[in-house]
Amino acid sequence: MTTTEPAAEVATGVEEVHILWTSEGMSCDGDTVSVTAASLPSLEDVVLGAIPGLPKVHLHNKVLAYETGDDFMRVFHEAARGELEHPFVLVVEGSIPNENINGEGYWTSMGNDPATGEPRPLNTWLDLLAPQAFAVVAVGTCATYGGIHAMAGNPTGCMGLADYLGWDFRSAAGLPVVNVPGCPVQPDNFMETLTWLLYQAAGSAPTIPLDEQLRPTWLFGKTVHEGCDRAAYYEQGDFAKDYNSPKCQVKVGCWGPVVNCNVTKRGWMDGVGGCPNVGGICIGCTMPGFPDKFMPFMDEPPGGSVSSGLLSSTYGPLVRSLRSITNRTVNHEPKWRHNRAELTSGYAPRWTGR
Ligand code: SF4
Ligand code: SF4
Repeated sequence: MTTTEPAAEVATGVEEVHILWTSEGMSCDGDTVSVTAASLPSLEDVVLGAIPGLPKVHLHNKVLAYETGDDFMRVFHEAARGELEHPFVLVVEGSIPNENINGEGYWTSMGNDPATGEPRPLNTWLDLLAPQAFAVVAVGTCATYGGIHAMAGNPTGCMGLADYLGWDFRSAAGLPVVNVPGCPVQPDNFMETLTWLLYQAAGSAPTIPLDEQLRPTWLFGKTVHEGCDRAAYYEQGDFAKDYNSPKCQVKVGCWGPVVNCNVTKRGWMDGVGGCPNVGGICIGCTMPGFPDKFMPFMDEPPGGSVSSGLLSSTYGPLVRSLRSITNRTVNHEPKWRHNRAELTSGYAPRWTGR
């Protein structure tokens, strides 16, 4: 279901955009690294202006920036004071800690507060920047839903960005948080989403369509299983018994049938790689319930044995057997393909030339 309503006040015709990207949540920077592998489009294409119709982009990401220290932080401070010359997209990587339970200190910070010289917690930056941003994008499952850092037993009480800002948060352009989950994010999934938002800022794309979990609908509307190369094995009740098998892996831990993700369909880089399609069980890394609801990863998912059991015992063997007979038939050429001095193809000329 699409929940994004038409934005009340959408900036259009924007010619230059800053991308303020913080990975100072509870993060490993894996999403930043992942996005450098994108090609549809690549980060370089966007930053260097190779995509027709996009605004000029100024990217500020600490892993990729030339500037360091105060020079890097300058644009963040300008944005926080509302002094940035152009609109900005705020990209948040990593889960958001609960600073209400930080004791005497803080869980994570970025730069210093100019007034006090003390480290400024990420949460303060979010309070200052998010309402002013054209769009706020959570990249990776930690930023979107809390992810691995927010698993049972964690000490920081961390959460996803929409949990922190509120699921009814709206950016300056009237958009909710835009979630692009994945641990890490699939490179092109992020770049496609960013490109949509940049076209929207330029006034040449409609409001980005998001589902109830604030994910772009065209990327997360289908399940892993629906795009998996191994689904034919599943349908025929032919299941891998270990990880060294080309068959369906549902009995060795794959959660693909109930996980929203397009990586089986899309591959990882340039269509190469992935998860279950190339031999790794799907652990549901894009999902709001990740990781706790999927652990222990290498056990058969509950429900998997019901569906796979039925397929293994009845329908699957019958279908496999019938397909095998048909497969043998279509593996032989028709009998009229020969070199004898006669035509046996059944050709019947309708025009004799008289
Ligand atoms: S390996 Fe996983 S995603 Fe692929 S067909 Fe089997 S259950 Fe579905
Ligand atoms: S297929 Fe599963 S494990 Fe792989 S990226 Fe998608 S959700 Fe994560």
